Amino acid sequence: MKIGIFGGTFNPPHSGHIEAAKSAISLAGLDRLILVPSNIPPHKILPENTANNEQRLMMTHMAAEEIGCEVSAIELMREGKSYTKDTIAHLAAKYPDDSLYFIMGTDMLRTFVNWYCPDEILKHCTLLALCRNEAERENMLEYKANIEKTLGGRVIVVENDVLEVSSTDIRNKTSGLIPKSIADYIEKNGLYR
Ligand code: ATP
Repeated sequence: MKIGIFGGTFNPPHSGHIEAAKSAISLAGLDRLILVPSNIPPHKILPENTANNEQRLMMTHMAAEEIGCEVSAIELMREGKSYTKDTIAHLAAKYPDDSLYFIMGTDMLRTFVNWYCPDEILKHCTLLALCRNEAERENMLEYKANIEKTLGGRVIVVENDVLEVSSTDIRNKTSGLIPKSIADYIEKNGLYR
């Protein structure tokens, strides 16, 4: 079975995440997809007045309902920084007979070589990269080639339709590209004010 793993801070999840997940499922022929909200992301500082872990987990479940996929709280249950290396090793041990695909947008593909133990990650999974920014689409093959050359492993670049939105845009109210269920949850809980 082909299992996609889609990690993120999901603070909050937005329509860009949802469309990316749907594209990954259809274009790469995934059988299962698991959203994995991070505890403490290694690469970014969560803004003040942000959603707490339970609220991010709840909103990630709402996104999963839209996608028709699963959620794993394994990074939230683990203490400290959420390293993809640990998550992928855990899932590879849990699903030894399946093929794992780690899903990421352009920004993550660009910086992947600088992640913690990227070679370890590539031992257990294929990277499945989606475009999140049309201006960067043509650079993706260059990032793929660089990763494969310096680290080995396999990177698949998917030709998805781009939805240019970020969680920052949602928090700053400069975009409304978010499912109604999540928008209502944010409003009801007074998040990101
Ligand atoms: P923030 O604005 O807070 O930095 P973000 O929008 O980048 O957040 P994350 O939850 O940090 O969202 O992203 C998780 C994963 O989803 C990353 O691999 C990222 O590249 C990808 N991603 C985020 N937004 C999009 C999008 N619009 N299209 C495709 N992939 C996306």
